[in-house]
Amino acid sequence: MSKDNPNVLLNHHLKALKLPTILREYESMAQLCAKERCEYSAYLLRLTERELIEREQRASERRIRQAMFPVLKTLDSFDFLAQPSINEAAIRELMRGEFVQRKENVLLVGNPGTGKSHLASALGHAVCMQGLKVKFFSVTGLVTMLLEHREERTLQRFKKQLERHHLIILDELGYVPFTKSGAELLFDVVSRAYERTSLIVTTNLPFEQWTEVMGSERLTGALLDRLTHRVHILEANGESYRLNDAKKRKKKKS
Ligand code: ADP
Ligand code: MG
Repeated sequence: MSKDNPNVLLNHHLKALKLPTILREYESMAQLCAKERCEYSAYLLRLTERELIEREQRASERRIRQAMFPVLKTLDSFDFLAQPSINEAAIRELMRGEFVQRKENVLLVGNPGTGKSHLASALGHAVCMQGLKVKFFSVTGLVTMLLEHREERTLQRFKKQLERHHLIILDELGYVPFTKSGAELLFDVVSRAYERTSLIVTTNLPFEQWTEVMGSERLTGALLDRLTHRVHILEANGESYRLNDAKKRKKKKS
């Protein structure tokens, strides 16, 4: 049968080799290449190029799914004019992702509603697109998970999983104070990440007030020491985008 219809066998081999793009396109590409009188090698090159491009796209999509961004935000939808306190040039530089290669951290500090979480997600998204593994957590969510894993004796495994990431985003430090063990577990994550995994932390709290959420002054000092050793600090101290947006909508209505 394969003699009569070699395509059946070819389709099988391409499936077995996991080359879905070549499988989908080899016939139409063959027609095109016949028309253009391409060399056999040029035909193969075009097909393998497409396979590679689509594979990379699928991998990026997978990394973005696995990063668990609460909402997908990118820089395209960020209006720098609405938030002049943010250093646009610094953000654009960070979007290149070199800070992750250098294992540096980013701290986004400022009032609520100034776009810190938006920017953290946008940076995370860019880093995913560059082929690196990212994970987004709300800080309280992470601390709850750490406490649960400790309870279930799966903490070591969970920490190993965390270490496989290139960038970890800790969103919204400062809204809820931690228990003593919560603070210690968070410190442990930051401490293990030091010079290994980049961290982006967003917070509404100036450094002087971090003790209020961490509980202990000693622990806060040690945490800040690691976090800020190699850090890009960005401040957002304008008005709340949410509030301004709501005001505008209210005005329109009346
Ligand atoms: P924060 O984390 O600083 O409290 P968010 O990033 O959650 O603020 O922003 C609140 C909402 O306003 C989000 O939906 C975000 O996308 C939007 N937003 C904030 N700043 C901007 C901006 N400069 N341009 C566009 N959208 C913005
Ligand atoms: Mg936020």
